[in-house]
Amino acid sequence: MAGRNFLFVPGPTNVPDRVLRAMVVSQEDHRSPKFGALGLACIEGLKPVFKTTTGTPILFPASGTACWEAALTNCLNPGDKVLIARFGQFSHLWADMAARLGYEVEIIETEWGEGAPLERYHAALEADTGHRIKAVLATQNETATGVTSDIGALRKVMDAARHPALLFVDAVSALASIDFRMDEWGVDVCVSGSQKGLMLPAGLGVTCVSQKALEAAKTSKSPRCYFDYGDMVRANATGYFPYTPSIPMLYGLREALAILAEEGIENVFARHAYLGGAVRAAVLDGWKLKLCAKQPQWYSDTVSAIVVPEGFDAAKVIARAYSRYNVSLGAGLSKVAGKVFRIGHLGDNNEVMVLASVAAAEMAMIDVGIPVTPGSGVAAAGHFLRVNTPEAR
Ligand SMILES: *Cc1c(COP(=O)(O)O)cnc(C)c1O
Repeated sequence: MAGRNFLFVPGPTNVPDRVLRAMVVSQEDHRSPKFGALGLACIEGLKPVFKTTTGTPILFPASGTACWEAALTNCLNPGDKVLIARFGQFSHLWADMAARLGYEVEIIETEWGEGAPLERYHAALEADTGHRIKAVLATQNETATGVTSDIGALRKVMDAARHPALLFVDAVSALASIDFRMDEWGVDVCVSGSQKGLMLPAGLGVTCVSQKALEAAKTSKSPRCYFDYGDMVRANATGYFPYTPSIPMLYGLREALAILAEEGIENVFARHAYLGGAVRAAVLDGWKLKLCAKQPQWYSDTVSAIVVPEGFDAAKVIARAYSRYNVSLGAGLSKVAGKVFRIGHLGDNNEVMVLASVAAAEMAMIDVGIPVTPGSGVAAAGHFLRVNTPEAR
């Protein structure tokens, strides 16, 4: 097929040419005197992205899922209890992992399309007078439903309940695209990966741990080895790794961090809000369809899950977009399979790329019989982009 495949899934995202070029390197000795500078540049360069001065970024040759496992096994003891709200496939998988690793999981069942239920977190923490809950787990951006939760408010809820649990946040599809504040929000472990806002291929688990989390790791008895924070922190202090790191990924990360710094992290967030706003204009004003996210307070600036009208199969929209227009849209996962398709709008993205995603989704929907007005989504998104600006105020 001529032309390029347009990638609008919410991860992996488009990798900028600058990053691709930076990754084309010969292999080198990861114990050489020179190598430590690369490791340190990556670790130090991540601190402003996590908005931390006291936390410690850690990079595993893995993906975001491994960082969930690392958070649990490094900070908890066998049988410890965790509290998590489940409102989408990713929060579901994290809860499932905690149970499979032998932790006791208290699940706050929440409707898919809603965000972290602050009152119910508060009630569960208040009820836990014996402080058996050792960690509160939260998914900042639920990628399956396109829902962003207020992590700062969750921290306030934990403080109001005077609960000492650790706070673990899944920011896999939020970091470097939606505001995240490790220090201000008192996050103990932030879990992320390379292939979303950081604009890299998949292959790096990107996480950041607080001093409190590192303290907990010193006494935690859960078995772990490859993902041990202590081993990583000791080797990372001079920019080295306990085992062979993925060298091209580190060169790519260093370049991606430079790109983010050049734009300015606040401008990166503002651009995501602006491009996300354009997609929402297409969905709500143009096509007159609904988002899976139930209220504006939860609308995600990195991914929109679009509900197709009753009687239509969203999977057919995705298949049509791919086979006819060479465009990749995100599938509906698990509970919302067939009911939603997703447009990812995170990472290396701009106005015309967003318009292309809207145009392709619009054509594919019309092709499979969904009654949207031709041109309506593109017109609404285009209008939004013209009258708004992407810069941070
Ligand atoms: C993508 C994603 C994950 C899984 O990360 P991997 O890098 O695929 O292991 C976890 N949580 C959320 C919210 C995600 O978007």
